[in-house]
Amino acid sequence: MRASKPVNTTHMTKNLTMNQSTVANDVLDVIVVGAGPAGLNAALVLGRCRRNVLVFDDAKPRNAVSHAMHGFLSRDGFAPAHLRAVARQQLAAYPSVRMEDVRVIDAVRTDRGFSVTTRDGRDFQARKLLLAAGVVDELPQQPGFRELYGTGAFLCPYCDGWEMRDQPLAVYGRGDDKGGGMALEMTLWSADTVLCTDGPSQLTDACRQRLDRNGITLREEKIVCLDIHSREPYHASFDIVFESGPRLRRAGIFFNTGRHQSTDLARRLGSNSYATEGCTVDNKHQKTDVPGLYIAGDASRDVLQVIVAAAEGAAAAIGINAALLHEDLA
Ligand SMILES: Cc1cc2nc3c(=O)[nH]c(=O)nc-3n(C[C@H](O)[C@H](O)[C@H](O)COP(=O)(O)OP(=O)(O)OC[C@H]3O[C@@H](n4cnc5c(N)ncnc54)[C@H](O)[C@@H]3O)c2cc1C
Repeated sequence: MRASKPVNTTHMTKNLTMNQSTVANDVLDVIVVGAGPAGLNAALVLGRCRRNVLVFDDAKPRNAVSHAMHGFLSRDGFAPAHLRAVARQQLAAYPSVRMEDVRVIDAVRTDRGFSVTTRDGRDFQARKLLLAAGVVDELPQQPGFRELYGTGAFLCPYCDGWEMRDQPLAVYGRGDDKGGGMALEMTLWSADTVLCTDGPSQLTDACRQRLDRNGITLREEKIVCLDIHSREPYHASFDIVFESGPRLRRAGIFFNTGRHQSTDLARRLGSNSYATEGCTVDNKHQKTDVPGLYIAGDASRDVLQVIVAAAEGAAAAIGINAALLHEDLA
Protein backbone atom coordinates (compact mmCIF):
# COMPACT_ATOMS: atom_id res chain seq x y z
CA MET A 1 0.00 0.00 0.00
CA ARG A 2 1.23 3.50 -0.83
CA ALA A 3 2.07 5.71 2.13
CA SER A 4 1.14 8.99 0.51
CA LYS A 5 -1.25 10.33 -2.13
CA PRO A 6 -0.05 11.24 -5.63
CA VAL A 7 0.44 14.98 -6.00
CA ASN A 8 -1.83 16.94 -8.35
CA THR A 9 -0.37 18.35 -11.63
CA THR A 10 -1.10 21.87 -10.54
CA HIS A 11 1.88 21.64 -8.21
CA MET A 12 4.31 21.25 -11.07
CA THR A 13 5.40 24.84 -11.18
CA LYS A 14 8.19 26.72 -9.52
CA ASN A 15 5.76 28.52 -7.25
CA LEU A 16 3.32 26.28 -5.46
CA THR A 17 -0.30 26.99 -6.21
CA MET A 18 -1.80 25.12 -3.26
CA ASN A 19 -1.54 25.52 0.45
CA GLN A 20 2.19 25.10 1.06
CA SER A 21 1.87 23.86 4.62
CA THR A 22 -0.34 20.99 3.40
CA VAL A 23 2.35 19.97 0.96
CA ALA A 24 5.11 20.39 3.52
CA ASN A 25 3.36 18.13 6.02
CA ASP A 26 2.75 15.23 3.63
CA VAL A 27 5.24 12.40 3.75
CA LEU A 28 6.48 12.05 0.20
CA ASP A 29 7.82 8.82 -1.22
CA VAL A 30 11.07 10.39 -2.35
CA ILE A 31 12.89 13.69 -2.16
CA VAL A 32 15.55 14.23 -4.81
CA VAL A 33 18.16 16.92 -4.22
CA GLY A 34 19.48 18.15 -7.59
CA ALA A 35 17.90 18.38 -11.03
CA GLY A 36 20.86 17.57 -13.22
CA PRO A 37 20.93 14.44 -15.40
CA ALA A 38 21.08 12.16 -12.33
CA GLY A 39 18.19 13.70 -10.42
CA LEU A 40 16.02 14.25 -13.48
CA ASN A 41 16.40 10.68 -14.71
CA ALA A 42 15.65 9.36 -11.23
CA ALA A 43 12.51 11.52 -11.09
CA LEU A 44 11.44 10.24 -14.52
CA VAL A 45 11.74 6.58 -13.52
CA LEU A 46 10.04 7.21 -10.16
CA GLY A 47 7.26 9.24 -11.80
CA ARG A 48 6.58 6.36 -14.15
CA CYS A 49 6.22 4.17 -11.03
CA ARG A 50 3.61 6.69 -9.79
CA ARG A 51 5.83 7.60 -6.86
CA ASN A 52 5.20 10.85 -5.10
CA VAL A 53 8.45 12.76 -5.75
CA LEU A 54 9.70 16.23 -4.99
CA VAL A 55 12.85 17.44 -6.76
CA PHE A 56 14.80 20.42 -5.43
CA ASP A 57 17.31 22.36 -7.47
CA ASP A 58 19.27 25.56 -7.03
CA ALA A 59 20.24 25.98 -10.70
CA LYS A 60 24.01 25.55 -10.49
CA PRO A 61 24.72 22.61 -12.79
CA ARG A 62 28.35 21.58 -13.06
CA ASN A 63 28.53 22.11 -16.81
CA ALA A 64 26.85 25.55 -16.76
CA VAL A 65 29.69 27.10 -18.80
CA SER A 66 29.66 24.38 -21.46
CA HIS A 67 28.39 25.23 -24.94
CA ALA A 68 27.94 21.66 -26.06
CA MET A 69 27.70 18.28 -24.39
CA HIS A 70 29.53 15.36 -25.98
CA GLY A 71 29.75 11.60 -25.67
CA PHE A 72 26.03 10.92 -25.06
CA LEU A 73 24.56 8.82 -27.84
CA SER A 74 21.90 10.65 -29.84
CA ARG A 75 22.64 13.89 -27.91
CA ASP A 76 26.20 14.62 -29.07
CA GLY A 77 26.62 18.40 -29.34
CA PHE A 78 23.39 19.27 -27.46
CA ALA A 79 23.51 22.39 -25.31
CA PRO A 80 23.42 21.08 -21.70
CA ALA A 81 20.70 23.59 -20.81
CA HIS A 82 18.59 22.22 -23.65
CA LEU A 83 18.95 18.68 -22.29
CA ARG A 84 17.74 19.82 -18.87
CA ALA A 85 14.86 21.82 -20.37
CA VAL A 86 13.64 18.86 -22.46
CA ALA A 87 13.90 16.57 -19.44
CA ARG A 88 11.82 18.96 -17.31
CA GLN A 89 9.26 19.31 -20.09
CA GLN A 90 8.92 15.53 -20.36
CA LEU A 91 8.62 15.19 -16.58
CA ALA A 92 5.58 17.45 -16.71
CA ALA A 93 3.64 14.44 -18.07
CA TYR A 94 4.00 12.69 -14.70
CA PRO A 95 1.61 14.21 -12.19
CA SER A 96 3.24 12.75 -9.10
CA VAL A 97 6.55 14.52 -9.77
CA ARG A 98 6.99 18.08 -8.61
CA MET A 99 9.94 20.49 -8.98
CA GLU A 100 10.99 23.25 -6.60
CA ASP A 101 13.76 25.66 -7.57
CA VAL A 102 15.21 26.22 -4.12
CA ARG A 103 18.34 25.02 -2.30
CA VAL A 104 18.14 22.33 0.37
CA ILE A 105 20.24 23.44 3.32
CA ASP A 106 19.75 20.65 5.84
CA ALA A 107 18.47 17.10 6.27
CA VAL A 108 17.86 14.93 9.32
CA ARG A 109 16.68 11.37 9.80
CA THR A 110 13.20 10.82 11.24
CA ASP A 111 11.19 7.75 12.22
CA ARG A 112 9.44 7.96 8.81
CA GLY A 113 12.62 8.54 6.78
CA PHE A 114 13.99 12.05 6.29
CA SER A 115 13.12 15.67 6.84
CA VAL A 116 14.79 18.27 4.65
CA THR A 117 14.88 22.01 5.11
CA THR A 118 14.98 24.48 2.24
CA ARG A 119 16.77 27.82 2.17
CA ASP A 120 13.43 29.63 2.47
CA GLY A 121 12.76 27.86 5.77
CA ARG A 122 10.30 25.14 4.82
CA ASP A 123 10.53 21.50 5.93
CA PHE A 124 9.56 18.50 3.78
CA GLN A 125 9.32 14.84 4.79
CA ALA A 126 10.04 11.81 2.64
CA ARG A 127 10.57 8.10 3.12
CA LYS A 128 13.65 8.00 0.90
CA LEU A 129 16.24 10.62 0.02
CA LEU A 130 18.30 10.74 -3.16
CA LEU A 131 21.24 13.14 -3.29
CA ALA A 132 22.01 14.01 -6.91
CA ALA A 133 23.59 17.34 -6.14
CA GLY A 134 26.81 17.03 -8.17
CA VAL A 135 30.20 18.54 -7.49
CA VAL A 136 31.91 21.93 -7.81
CA ASP A 137 35.17 22.13 -9.75
CA GLU A 138 38.13 24.05 -8.38
CA LEU A 139 39.79 26.21 -11.03
CA PRO A 140 43.39 27.45 -11.05
CA GLN A 141 43.39 30.87 -9.38
CA GLN A 142 45.33 32.89 -11.96
CA PRO A 143 43.41 35.54 -13.93
CA GLY A 144 42.17 34.20 -17.25
CA PHE A 145 41.19 30.64 -16.30
CA ARG A 146 37.66 31.53 -15.21
CA GLU A 147 37.12 33.81 -18.22
CA LEU A 148 38.20 31.05 -20.61
CA TYR A 149 36.41 28.22 -18.79
CA GLY A 150 34.24 26.33 -21.27
CA THR A 151 35.64 28.05 -24.40
CA GLY A 152 39.43 27.56 -24.16
CA ALA A 153 39.98 26.11 -20.66
CA PHE A 154 38.61 22.63 -20.06
CA LEU A 155 38.54 19.88 -17.47
CA CYS A 156 37.80 16.76 -19.38
CA PRO A 157 39.46 15.50 -22.57
CA TYR A 158 36.62 13.03 -23.11
CA CYS A 159 34.19 15.97 -23.19
CA ASP A 160 36.15 18.47 -25.29
CA GLY A 161 39.33 16.79 -26.59
CA TRP A 162 37.86 16.04 -30.02
CA GLU A 163 36.82 19.68 -30.55
CA MET A 164 40.36 20.80 -29.66
CA ARG A 165 42.13 18.24 -31.83
CA ASP A 166 45.31 19.24 -33.68
CA GLN A 167 45.44 22.66 -32.00
CA PRO A 168 48.28 23.92 -29.77
CA LEU A 169 47.35 22.79 -26.25
CA ALA A 170 48.62 23.06 -22.68
CA VAL A 171 47.96 20.94 -19.63
CA TYR A 172 47.98 22.58 -16.19
CA GLY A 173 48.82 20.23 -13.32
CA ARG A 174 51.53 18.73 -11.13
CA GLY A 175 52.74 15.25 -10.40
CA ASP A 176 52.68 12.05 -12.44
CA ASP A 177 48.89 11.71 -12.41
CA LYS A 178 47.23 15.13 -12.67
CA GLY A 179 50.10 16.67 -14.66
CA GLY A 180 52.11 14.01 -16.50
CA GLY A 181 49.25 11.56 -16.97
CA MET A 182 46.91 14.15 -18.43
CA ALA A 183 49.60 15.53 -20.76
CA LEU A 184 50.33 12.01 -22.05
CA GLU A 185 46.60 11.45 -22.57
CA MET A 186 46.39 14.64 -24.65
CA THR A 187 48.74 13.15 -27.26
CA LEU A 188 45.59 11.43 -28.56
CA TRP A 189 44.27 14.79 -29.66
CA SER A 190 47.29 17.01 -30.32
CA ALA A 191 50.97 16.50 -31.15
CA ASP A 192 51.64 19.99 -29.77
CA THR A 193 51.06 19.74 -26.03
CA VAL A 194 53.04 21.58 -23.33
CA LEU A 195 52.81 20.58 -19.67
CA CYS A 196 52.78 23.64 -17.39
CA THR A 197 53.28 22.79 -13.72
CA ASP A 198 53.18 26.34 -12.27
CA GLY A 199 56.18 25.67 -10.01
CA PRO A 200 58.20 22.50 -9.28
CA SER A 201 56.62 19.70 -11.33
CA GLN A 202 56.73 16.93 -8.68
CA LEU A 203 57.22 14.47 -11.56
CA THR A 204 59.18 11.25 -11.13
CA ASP A 205 62.16 10.71 -13.40
CA ALA A 206 60.28 7.90 -15.16
CA CYS A 207 57.38 10.22 -15.97
CA ARG A 208 59.71 13.00 -17.19
CA GLN A 209 61.39 10.54 -19.54
CA ARG A 210 58.03 9.33 -20.82
CA LEU A 211 56.91 12.89 -21.50
CA ASP A 212 60.16 13.51 -23.32
CA ARG A 213 59.82 10.34 -25.43
CA ASN A 214 56.31 11.45 -26.43
CA GLY A 215 57.32 14.97 -27.49
CA ILE A 216 55.75 16.85 -24.57
CA THR A 217 57.58 19.98 -23.47
CA LEU A 218 57.68 20.81 -19.75
CA ARG A 219 57.43 24.38 -18.39
CA GLU A 220 57.94 24.61 -14.63
CA GLU A 221 57.93 28.41 -14.25
CA LYS A 222 55.17 29.95 -12.11
CA ILE A 223 52.22 31.17 -14.15
CA VAL A 224 51.11 34.80 -13.75
CA CYS A 225 47.97 34.79 -15.92
CA LEU A 226 46.37 33.83 -19.21
CA ASP A 227 46.42 36.84 -21.54
CA ILE A 228 43.31 36.32 -23.68
CA HIS A 229 43.08 37.38 -27.34
CA SER A 230 39.93 35.46 -28.30
CA ARG A 231 37.35 33.44 -26.40
CA GLU A 232 35.64 31.87 -29.37
CA PRO A 233 34.41 28.43 -28.24
CA TYR A 234 36.95 25.76 -29.27
CA HIS A 235 38.96 28.35 -31.24
CA ALA A 236 40.29 30.53 -28.43
CA SER A 237 43.68 32.21 -28.50
CA PHE A 238 45.65 33.22 -25.43
CA ASP A 239 49.19 33.54 -24.09
CA ILE A 240 50.27 31.77 -20.93
CA VAL A 241 52.33 34.42 -19.13
CA PHE A 242 55.07 33.04 -16.87
CA GLU A 243 57.03 34.80 -14.14
CA SER A 244 60.12 34.20 -16.25
CA GLY A 245 60.77 32.97 -19.76
CA PRO A 246 58.83 33.55 -22.99
CA ARG A 247 55.03 33.62 -23.23
CA LEU A 248 53.37 30.58 -24.73
CA ARG A 249 50.57 31.04 -27.32
CA ARG A 250 47.87 28.32 -27.01
CA ALA A 251 44.32 27.58 -28.21
CA GLY A 252 43.32 25.44 -25.23
CA ILE A 253 44.39 24.45 -21.74
CA PHE A 254 43.18 21.37 -19.85
CA PHE A 255 43.42 21.14 -16.08
CA ASN A 256 42.45 18.79 -13.27
CA THR A 257 42.87 20.69 -10.03
CA GLY A 258 40.22 19.01 -7.91
CA ARG A 259 36.58 19.30 -6.97
CA HIS A 260 34.35 19.15 -3.92
CA GLN A 261 30.80 18.09 -3.16
CA SER A 262 28.04 20.65 -3.84
CA THR A 263 26.49 19.78 -0.50
CA ASP A 264 27.60 18.03 2.68
CA LEU A 265 24.11 16.60 3.38
CA ALA A 266 25.44 13.00 3.31
CA ARG A 267 27.97 13.85 6.01
CA ARG A 268 25.33 15.67 8.08
CA LEU A 269 23.16 12.54 7.90
CA GLY A 270 26.00 10.54 9.43
CA SER A 271 27.00 8.63 6.31
CA ASN A 272 30.51 7.21 6.16
CA SER A 273 30.16 7.28 2.37
CA TYR A 274 30.89 11.01 2.31
CA ALA A 275 34.13 11.98 0.56
CA THR A 276 35.08 15.37 -0.84
CA GLU A 277 35.64 14.26 -4.44
CA GLY A 278 33.04 11.46 -4.58
CA CYS A 279 30.89 9.52 -2.12
CA THR A 280 31.08 5.74 -2.00
CA VAL A 281 27.89 3.86 -2.80
CA ASP A 282 26.96 0.30 -3.64
CA ASN A 283 27.30 -0.23 -7.38
CA LYS A 284 23.91 -1.75 -7.99
CA HIS A 285 21.45 0.81 -6.67
CA GLN A 286 23.56 3.73 -5.43
CA LYS A 287 22.73 2.90 -1.80
CA THR A 288 24.75 4.40 1.07
CA ASP A 289 25.37 3.05 4.56
CA VAL A 290 22.43 5.16 5.87
CA PRO A 291 19.15 3.28 5.36
CA GLY A 292 17.00 5.03 2.76
CA LEU A 293 19.77 7.38 1.60
CA TYR A 294 20.99 7.11 -2.00
CA ILE A 295 23.58 9.12 -3.93
CA ALA A 296 23.79 9.30 -7.74
CA GLY A 297 25.63 11.23 -10.44
CA ASP A 298 28.91 13.08 -10.07
CA ALA A 299 28.43 13.20 -6.29
CA SER A 300 29.17 9.48 -6.18
CA ARG A 301 32.55 8.09 -7.10
CA ASP A 302 32.51 6.91 -10.71
CA VAL A 303 32.98 8.12 -14.26
CA LEU A 304 31.86 11.76 -14.26
CA GLN A 305 29.80 12.00 -17.44
CA VAL A 306 26.22 12.98 -18.24
CA ILE A 307 25.23 9.56 -19.53
CA VAL A 308 26.67 7.87 -16.44
CA ALA A 309 24.96 10.35 -14.11
CA ALA A 310 21.62 9.71 -15.84
CA ALA A 311 22.17 5.94 -15.63
CA GLU A 312 23.00 6.16 -11.93
CA GLY A 313 19.84 8.20 -11.40
CA ALA A 314 17.83 5.44 -13.08
CA ALA A 315 19.58 2.73 -11.03
CA ALA A 316 18.90 4.61 -7.79
CA ALA A 317 15.24 5.09 -8.74
CA ILE A 318 14.78 1.39 -9.38
CA GLY A 319 16.46 0.56 -6.06
CA ILE A 320 14.29 3.07 -4.22
CA ASN A 321 11.10 1.85 -5.84
CA ALA A 322 11.97 -1.77 -5.02
CA ALA A 323 12.68 -0.85 -1.39
CA LEU A 324 9.35 1.00 -1.08
CA LEU A 325 7.49 -1.92 -2.62
CA HIS A 326 9.20 -4.32 -0.24
CA GLU A 327 8.14 -2.17 2.72
CA ASP A 328 4.55 -1.69 1.54
CA LEU A 329 3.35 -4.96 0.07
CA ALA A 330 1.70 -7.49 2.31
C1 LIG B 1 32.85 22.45 -18.36
C2 LIG B 1 32.28 21.05 -18.31
C3 LIG B 1 31.97 20.40 -19.48
C4 LIG B 1 31.43 19.11 -19.44
N1 LIG B 1 31.18 18.49 -20.61
C5 LIG B 1 30.66 17.25 -20.61
C6 LIG B 1 30.39 16.58 -21.84
O1 LIG B 1 30.64 17.09 -22.91
N2 LIG B 1 29.87 15.32 -21.76
C7 LIG B 1 29.61 14.72 -20.57
O2 LIG B 1 29.12 13.58 -20.57
N3 LIG B 1 29.86 15.33 -19.38
C8 LIG B 1 30.38 16.58 -19.38
N4 LIG B 1 30.66 17.21 -18.19
C9 LIG B 1 30.35 16.51 -16.93
C10 LIG B 1 28.86 16.71 -16.61
O3 LIG B 1 28.59 18.07 -16.44
C11 LIG B 1 28.51 15.95 -15.34
O4 LIG B 1 28.93 14.61 -15.40
C12 LIG B 1 26.97 15.97 -15.10
O5 LIG B 1 26.48 17.29 -15.10
C13 LIG B 1 26.66 15.30 -13.75
O6 LIG B 1 25.28 15.34 -13.53
P1 LIG B 1 24.71 15.41 -12.03
O7 LIG B 1 23.24 15.31 -12.19
O8 LIG B 1 25.42 14.45 -11.18
O9 LIG B 1 25.15 16.85 -11.49
P2 LIG B 1 24.83 18.32 -12.03
O10 LIG B 1 24.57 18.32 -13.48
O11 LIG B 1 25.94 19.17 -11.53
O12 LIG B 1 23.47 18.69 -11.30
C14 LIG B 1 23.41 18.83 -9.90
C15 LIG B 1 22.30 19.81 -9.57
O13 LIG B 1 22.08 19.81 -8.15
C16 LIG B 1 21.86 21.13 -7.72
N5 LIG B 1 22.18 21.22 -6.28
C17 LIG B 1 23.38 21.08 -5.67
N6 LIG B 1 23.26 21.19 -4.34
C18 LIG B 1 21.94 21.43 -4.10
C19 LIG B 1 21.17 21.65 -2.92
N7 LIG B 1 21.74 21.62 -1.71
N8 LIG B 1 19.84 21.89 -3.04
C20 LIG B 1 19.23 21.91 -4.26
N9 LIG B 1 19.93 21.69 -5.42
C21 LIG B 1 21.26 21.46 -5.33
C22 LIG B 1 22.78 21.96 -8.60
O14 LIG B 1 22.36 23.32 -8.65
C23 LIG B 1 22.64 21.25 -9.95
O15 LIG B 1 21.61 21.81 -10.74
C24 LIG B 1 31.21 18.48 -18.20
C25 LIG B 1 31.53 19.14 -17.00
C26 LIG B 1 32.06 20.40 -17.06
C27 LIG B 1 32.42 21.10 -15.79
